[in-house]
Amino acid sequence: MIYLDHNATTPVAPEVRDVMLPYFTEEWGNPSSSYRFGSKLKTVIEKAREQVAELLGSHPREILFTSCATESNNAAIHAALKTDPKKRHVITSVVEHSSVLTYCKTLETEGVRVTYLPVDRNGLLKIADLEAAIADDTVVVSLMWANNETGVLFPVEEIAQLCKARGVLFHCDAVQAVGKVPIDVRKIAVDYLSLTGHKFHAPKGIGALYIRRKSPFSALIEGGHQERGLRGGTENVPLIVGLGKAAELAQKKLPGYDAKVRPLRDALERGILEGIPIAELNGHTTKRLGNTSNITFRGVESEALLLLLDQEGICASSGSACLMDSEEPSHVVKAMKPNTGASRQMIRFSLDTANTIADINAALGSLRRLTQMLRG
Ligand code: PLP
Repeated sequence: MIYLDHNATTPVAPEVRDVMLPYFTEEWGNPSSSYRFGSKLKTVIEKAREQVAELLGSHPREILFTSCATESNNAAIHAALKTDPKKRHVITSVVEHSSVLTYCKTLETEGVRVTYLPVDRNGLLKIADLEAAIADDTVVVSLMWANNETGVLFPVEEIAQLCKARGVLFHCDAVQAVGKVPIDVRKIAVDYLSLTGHKFHAPKGIGALYIRRKSPFSALIEGGHQERGLRGGTENVPLIVGLGKAAELAQKKLPGYDAKVRPLRDALERGILEGIPIAELNGHTTKRLGNTSNITFRGVESEALLLLLDQEGICASSGSACLMDSEEPSHVVKAMKPNTGASRQMIRFSLDTANTIADINAALGSLRRLTQMLRG
């Protein structure tokens, strides 16, 4: 198998698996129990919190463990809306992940006004549009760090500064940025930041939300006193331990990540754009993650090409894995290139450090042959 879909999910690292195992077997206590067999697990959870905090440059008390980034995203926007009943305006963008967009659509049915900022042909946002959209009743701006389909990077520092200056909360879905670009919440005035473990070699079903110390928060999931009352529910100790280890590994790998992955991505992209005349890049050439390439093959339906690639053992995707079962074309590429077939004819390739030049050459060979075949 040649796996070129790391923005969808990543394999669990062996080191992560190993540190988790005892918490599935011997150490199965409940951290809230009074006796030591359970309560000692509190220390284990706090160590993982420190590891995640370290990766983001935050204080451990600013990290809330969640079940996934979908929950983190919902929780952040929910918390912001709880701050002031008069403030019922949310700003986001048309290219956010469904975990933000679907939640915003529901909020609209509950009387919340939502502004969806547009992007240009390259997937970039205009700061002037954000500036113009902020109104007296705006409570939160929710914008992603890096787009999952194109890898395009939003100017989070500028967005954060603007939000701060205008007294609006800023939530950032940083799911695709974690482990790929440096993140330091001491330098970026973000109020809430979401991440999920399975994008950086922890298991699925564990995420976190960074909540700045003085930023308002109220629980989305109410219940017991776990997570200092910020999220009810018995802590998922093994997965929390795994997330902590994955955060530690991501931090260690980060300095060498781009230098390893970008040349491979560039080789793939160059090979496609130079060798396949119907290919066209989606997304800004430089303001983009080093691992992601989103290409439209004009005249070739994504689904047909993906099927044939799969038969050759090559895994890629035609957009977000979360929307794979829908008939809709990519909302991201559609927003960038409306009135073209680009969104139905695109493939996302997303690499990781385990990929090799042999993977790239094999994928290029298949792509050249299969696109020619499908074009007839
Ligand atoms: N946000 C972005 C940008 C993503 O790519 C994803 C995962 O596909 C999510 C949020 C949701 O993550 P999870 O599957 O952990 O809920």
